[in-house]
Amino acid sequence: MPEEMLYEGKAKRVFATDDEGVLLHRYKDDATAFNAKKRGSWEGKGKTNATMSAALFEYLETQGVPTHFVDQVDDVTIRTKKLEMLPVEVIVRNIAAGSLARLLGFEEGRKLKAPIVELCYKDDDLDDPMLNWYHFRELGVADEDLAFCEELGLRVNEILVPFFDEKGVILVDFKIEVGRDKDGNLMLADEISPDTCRFWDKETGEKLDKDRFRRDMGGVEEAYAEMLRRVTEIKERGAVD
Ligand code: ADP
Ligand code: UDP
Repeated sequence: MPEEMLYEGKAKRVFATDDEGVLLHRYKDDATAFNAKKRGSWEGKGKTNATMSAALFEYLETQGVPTHFVDQVDDVTIRTKKLEMLPVEVIVRNIAAGSLARLLGFEEGRKLKAPIVELCYKDDDLDDPMLNWYHFRELGVADEDLAFCEELGLRVNEILVPFFDEKGVILVDFKIEVGRDKDGNLMLADEISPDTCRFWDKETGEKLDKDRFRRDMGGVEEAYAEMLRRVTEIKERGAVD
């Protein structure tokens, strides 16, 4: 059966499979920033994002977090459950950077007293604005789904901060998405990668994420390769333990 592409997004293509409840996500080497106003591409990006997402979803599952992950098919492709996505981007932050530094007038790099969770409306036409619970209610998103998003974001943060710390990486902030399966269960979806997280080297402060592309810093291909190396090293050691 020829593959049926259901959706082409900015960073991946999503395909149907013979199993109605299962999707393929094929990660592209393409990158966009600032709501697709800036575009680029570099070798190995799709592989890093697919492989890192697979490794992190697997690890989070072992820690009791429900995810959409089924398995990794090849370097750039993962199989997932098919979900109905909530129109929400959940951002969790440990250190001020990017839009939070602008919002609060903080210097980038200021450590936050406690993790901050933000809920943004996934709508490119509106530039994914941060909304409060009243706005989301108006859009038909249930309070219990928002509560799930916030709790999941904080739980994922609690698990991933020490995971990355062990590899000499500070998890500055990240974005996750949430979807519902056919039985009504909410779970973690989409990807976790240098596209969706800020990673800073613990020793040098060097940025190892998409900010290198957003800010034209150079060394973006090397940074993605380095993050893949650090995350898969943990996986390999974990497999032997
Ligand atoms: P964007 O839509 O932001 O350009 P991508 O290029 O990453 O993003 O495309 C992937 C799309 O698939 C996103 O809209 C994301 O919300 C959606 N998605 C992620 N995981 C699932 C899933 N398990 N089931 C259905 N849709 C998903
Ligand atoms: N992020 C993302 N997709 C978005 C918006 C943000 O993956 O559409 C991630 C981003 O990579 C960072 C975190 O969420 O790790 C916080 O992003 P911020 O709001 O600071 O974004 P900026 O304004 O810098 O683009």
